[in-house]
Amino acid sequence: MAELLSGKPIALKIKEELRRELARIPGKPKLVAVQIGKDKTSDLYLSKQKKEAMLLGIDHDVLTLSPSVSQEEAIRAIKGLNEDAGVTSIILEMPVPKIIDAKSLICAIDPIKDAECMHPANIGRILFGDEAIGPCTPMAVMELIKSSGADLYGKEAVCIGHSDIVGKPLALMLLNKFATTSICHIATAERGMLKDYVNRAEVLVVAVGKPALIKGSWIKKGAIVVDVGINKEGDKIVGDVEFEEASKRASFITPVPGGVGPLTTAMLMKNIVYLFKRQREKQ
Ligand code: NAD
Repeated sequence: MAELLSGKPIALKIKEELRRELARIPGKPKLVAVQIGKDKTSDLYLSKQKKEAMLLGIDHDVLTLSPSVSQEEAIRAIKGLNEDAGVTSIILEMPVPKIIDAKSLICAIDPIKDAECMHPANIGRILFGDEAIGPCTPMAVMELIKSSGADLYGKEAVCIGHSDIVGKPLALMLLNKFATTSICHIATAERGMLKDYVNRAEVLVVAVGKPALIKGSWIKKGAIVVDVGINKEGDKIVGDVEFEEASKRASFITPVPGGVGPLTTAMLMKNIVYLFKRQREKQ
């Protein structure tokens, strides 16, 4: 039976370290979340964010823009936050209304205030092997893999899902550790190749958003399995991997919920503290 890779204890440890670090620095960070219109999922994420920030003594504010705001107005609002010395971190809450181009708003965030590490200048640093900050979910995945004690050097790592926020940056992070990395996506599945890739994965990370997409019987014996997927099934939350069956073959597996999720917010806090320190050093 696989050992569980739980996110909570690691998250608690990271937040404790951040608390100690912040106690040594004068002043405190301030995060502003930019929300365009209202959205239930984003409200939930916001309240989680706010709770975690406040527990660490990080100020948290929400700038709510009208759903009919223009692209130019939204960019102006973000630039205003860039110029406000009291704001040390900015997040653009997703989703944004369809008429808004989220990518150009992300590009408007000053990289030194980019809490989610989505600005191309920050993502690009990962390409150079600089992971001082990183997109929160891939960083959480890497922490979970690290906690298994596995050495990634030369290992067959397979990411299922190639989104900008999870799969693509995660693949770079795995490459930075010299894992032999493959990325699969919808086209891999359409060619009927998913099972073959899963079969050979010594480290498997799945971030798709489809319950039971990955059959337990496909998992390589002894594999490390990180399930990023969040799916609602009735009143239950499940991942993308058939958990029971996969647990019989894997050596380590993340629970859903309780695996990647709790660590993601801790990683956000880590980025916020890092950016705050960098800004203090520049003063
Ligand atoms: P996305 O929709 O942006 O990307 C989905 C990816 O899955 C794409 O690469 C797509 O090509 C691929 N895909 C779709 N169908 C597939 C199939 N049948 N076979 C193989 N690949 C397929 O999603 P995302 O934003 O990266 O999120 C993925 C999942 O992870 C969602 O369930 C989301 O809720 C979850 N998520 C969790 C956290 C967390 O903190 N735990 C954070 C982000 C996302």
